[in-house]
Amino acid sequence: MSDYMELLKKAGEFHGDICGGIVMGTKLAMYGMETMGMKPGQKDKRLIVFTEIDRCISDAVLSVTRTSLGKKSLKPMHYGKFAATFVNIDTGEAIRVVDLGANKKDRDENETTEELIERINKTPAEELFEIQKVSVKIDPNDLPGKPLEIVTCADCGEVVMDGKHHLKGGKAYCTSCFSGSYYQIIDE
Ligand SMILES: [Zn+2]
Ligand SMILES: [Zn+2]
Repeated sequence: MSDYMELLKKAGEFHGDICGGIVMGTKLAMYGMETMGMKPGQKDKRLIVFTEIDRCISDAVLSVTRTSLGKKSLKPMHYGKFAATFVNIDTGEAIRVVDLGANKKDRDENETTEELIERINKTPAEELFEIQKVSVKIDPNDLPGKPLEIVTCADCGEVVMDGKHHLKGGKAYCTSCFSGSYYQIIDE
């Protein structure tokens, strides 16, 4: 089995099935890691990955790069775009890999997943993706490692880590108390 087929199988198991996004995402993540001089499928402490979409493709990126939210090595950016950025935090080197096929209008909709897998396995990554050299500023609070800042919200009393608090009038507030929240507490 080729490296691609092996990593595709693993990504499929992680995601639940092998769909088009997993097929493309596996290839994209391998290309990104290889271009960074890293080994696909193996954890690399130097690597931080930004994914730009919360769809199937990002599960493949997560599986192949072995990055994780909990280790702060995976940064979901909700841009809704088929792209991911690979950053080497030791050297600062960074590349953004864009899925060219996802941005094409003339896609063959009759292609089965098996045919897609075969085609993607055979096609050189350079023909499927565009690589942009980029520079990424990462806040020290967002790097892996011990937390640098831990504060307590002056309003709700909950703990806020990693510099995600807001200062107002010399006091620290959580985002919910400072600028509103995605949830509302229901009084019963
Ligand atoms: Zn899927
Ligand atoms: Zn609060």
